[in-house]
Amino acid sequence: MTYKVFQNKLNHKTKKFDLEIFYKSRFIDVKEVIVNKEKFSEMCKQGCGVYKGCWACPPYSPSFLDLKDNFKKMFVFISCIYTNQIRIKNPYLVLFNIYNILGPRMYRLGMVLEKPLNGLLLKSGPCRVCRECSVINREPCKFPNKKRYALESTGVDVQKLAMLLKHELLWYNKKSLPKYMSVVCGVLTNKKILQEDVYKDFKKLFI
Ligand code: SF4
Repeated sequence: MTYKVFQNKLNHKTKKFDLEIFYKSRFIDVKEVIVNKEKFSEMCKQGCGVYKGCWACPPYSPSFLDLKDNFKKMFVFISCIYTNQIRIKNPYLVLFNIYNILGPRMYRLGMVLEKPLNGLLLKSGPCRVCRECSVINREPCKFPNKKRYALESTGVDVQKLAMLLKHELLWYNKKSLPKYMSVVCGVLTNKKILQEDVYKDFKKLFI
């Protein structure tokens, strides 16, 4: 079965910036997802300060291959902002601002979608539910019902996943800013939902 890509955009005004926010979504077959848990766990170990610092991250996160067991599809949704709209000199702060605008909203949208899709959200980046993850003190997760794994932490090749929506991910490289920064999430599911309705929910998060 072929699933269509849905896309739209909205305007959002913050105290400092006038932003155009791009949004795309598509259902995919879970068989289309490329997974390499060892490779991406090793990349986390080498390049991410959160390795071993969050119950939702490697080495504690499970493989996508285990999580997908009861699901046939994944509803993938992507949002992005062009970096030239954030008029700050420090490139790190540009990306930080974009993530702060998109990351929490994408998580909230995914948590809302879990109900109609009877699904499981895989988000972007480490779990941010607590100020400090209880893994630091070797205590159990404080909010397992809110904890969600990042796609990449489960071994998903997010670059290739985004390409299924004809969306190329760009990365910060040698102190030069990418043209845009994206946040990618997915909800594993066996159900259907109208993509236009999900976009309406996404839009509401910016009111
Ligand atoms: S909910 Fe809190 S304790 Fe659990 S993984 Fe997330 S940050 Fe850590």
